[in-house]
Parts: sequence; C-alpha cells; structure tokens
Amino acid sequence: MTSDRTVYANRRRALIESLAGKAFIAYNYEHSDRATLRYLTGFTGEGTLLLSGDDGILLTDSRYTEQAKREVGELRVHECRDWMAKDAAAEILARGLETVVFAARRATYSWFDALRKLGQFTLVDVADPTNDLRAVKTEGEIESLRKAATLADSAFGDLLPEIRVGMNEADIALRLEWLMRTAGSDGVGFETNVSCADNTALNHYNPALGRRSLRCGDLLLFDFGACVDGYRSDITRTVAVGSATKQAREIYEIVLRANMEAISAVRAGVTGVAVDAVARPVITDAGHGDRFGHGLGHGIGLEVHERPSLSTLSKDTLAVGMVTTVEPGIYIPGFGGVRIEDDVVVTETGCEVITAFPKDRLMEVGT
Ligand code: ZN
Ligand code: ZN
Repeated sequence: MTSDRTVYANRRRALIESLAGKAFIAYNYEHSDRATLRYLTGFTGEGTLLLSGDDGILLTDSRYTEQAKREVGELRVHECRDWMAKDAAAEILARGLETVVFAARRATYSWFDALRKLGQFTLVDVADPTNDLRAVKTEGEIESLRKAATLADSAFGDLLPEIRVGMNEADIALRLEWLMRTAGSDGVGFETNVSCADNTALNHYNPALGRRSLRCGDLLLFDFGACVDGYRSDITRTVAVGSATKQAREIYEIVLRANMEAISAVRAGVTGVAVDAVARPVITDAGHGDRFGHGLGHGIGLEVHERPSLSTLSKDTLAVGMVTTVEPGIYIPGFGGVRIEDDVVVTETGCEVITAFPKDRLMEVGT
C-alpha cells in the first residue's frame, strides 16, 4: 500500500498516544495477529513487536530476519530464538518498563503466563487497541480496498458465463479464486464460500467438504473476496441455476430491499445498531425475522472482520473513512438462503458503494 515508512511510525505513535504513553507488546505466532504487526510495521511474518515511546523493536527468528529487514525499514530487527517469551522479557527488562499493555483478544493465556513469570513487570490487558485504530481508513487504505472490491467483481463477472449444471461447488470456488489471483489478487480475502441448493442456508459453508453438483432450480451463493496490499474485500451474490423458483424470487426481493435500504442509511454519525435496525424490520415484516440470525455487517481491512460492527449488539458509531459490509440474508433450512453483501465507505453524507456487481434481480445462470 505504501512505501512511505513514516506511515508506520505515525501509526505506532498514534497507538502509544491512545495508550496514554504506556508501552505495548504484540506478537504474531501461527497467524495469531498478522494484522497488528503488518499495520504497525509492514512486517508480514511471525515475531514480537515491543513499542515504548518512540522506541520500537521487532524480535523474530532466522526464518524471517531478511524478510523483516526488507519490510520494516528503520525499525530495529533483533534475531533471536525465543521471541515469544525469554527474549521478549529481556527487552522489556532492558528498558526498565514496569507496565506493558497487550491486546487481550489476541494473546493466549499460555503466552501471558510464560511472560509474566519472567520478570518484574506488569502486563496490562486492553481489548484490541490496534483494531480500534484501524477502524477509520486512510485514503491509501481505501484505495486498496476499492481495488480488492473491483478485482472480486470482475473475477465474478468472468466466472458466471462459465457456470454449467453439473459443475461442483469446490471446482467453482477454485475457478473463482484462480480468476481473482490471475487478475492480481494477493491471495483470497478469506475462504471462498460457493454453495448450492439447501447448502446456501449454511452461512460459512466449506465447498471442499460438500462438493455438491449444481442442478437446475438450485440457488447458488458466492461469498468471496480478493486481497490487495493485505486489504480484503467481502462480497456475496446469490443467483439461480436455470430458472429460479417463485419462492427464491420472493426471498431475493426482500433481501435486496433490506440491503438497499440499509445502504441508504449508512453515513457518519449513525450507530451500528441504527443501521442494523433499518434492514432487520424489512425481513421481519416479511415474516422471516427468525431466519436472519447474524449481524448486518462488519468492518473490512487487513482482516475480514474488524470494526465497526453493524448489529443489534454493536457499540460503534460510524465515522468518515470506515469501510463496512452490508449483508442481510434469509436462510430457510431445507430450502436454502439468499444473502446480498456489498462493501461501503462511510462518508459525511452517506456512503460510497465499492462493490459494483449487479444485484437488481435474481440472475439465472448455467443454461
Ligand atoms: Zn462475506
Ligand atoms: Zn461479510
């Protein structure tokens, strides 16, 4: 996203300010917290980051030393073996830090327990401070998200004419991923969900486990995203294989109305609860209230689920520069589900919808 290293230094400074000057420690082990290290340093590998005041050090092992030096610029990189515990504690003690903040939502108890036994310092938990900082995106981050959305849109447009009755869910998912990656996606935004028939009622379906083949009359749901500079899009479209049933059309119309009314309610200053409360009655009044169990949307960025949240439980208020999904759905066990998901950038007066693939009617494919 950026070759400007000052961006990372500024983020680190903002984080320390948000912690009232306290030192901060974060680690990424087996993908436990890729986003925090990448956001604060540009580093995409495993290691521990310790920040205190303007001082920062990245501890990592020999597998990542060269990579770290390429990715983090000015920040000091220290190669060691036990960057989770012993070497991290030594760096804390060397700086004379009495208190170090860590993100409770990211750390494991075994990490916490090992580290606290190693020195005379106090580890203070806060929920997830970097996630809070990341909620409002810069123009550069929004540009990466726009690209990720456009890549997903265009790969999907290339895929649909290839769909045929008899193809299976896993093969279609793989083809969609291939189209996104050859078009420039860094990888996939998250595990691609392609589901047909009554599998469409399963919100986080894994096509590789089902491999159901398409039949005429099936609903076919795609929930997928591309990844650009680490930033992930997240889009859902539902189509029909062959000709759609009357029930599928009716459900689609309700979900589409909920999606569009919610999008028109998004703007800075509105709460996540309030936007959810625009979509939900559309579905409830149509008699499907108990078939829309999840929240309306979630922030996207370096992770596919981040702040803000649009749901009945949300504590967030939308601000200019937040990027969120809007994804109402109706799921009927034994029949199937329809979800329509778009990605939007919050503005002062409304929002910019960055996913552009048409949704105005239930498309019929495969014949
Ligand atoms: Zn999705
Ligand atoms: Zn989503």
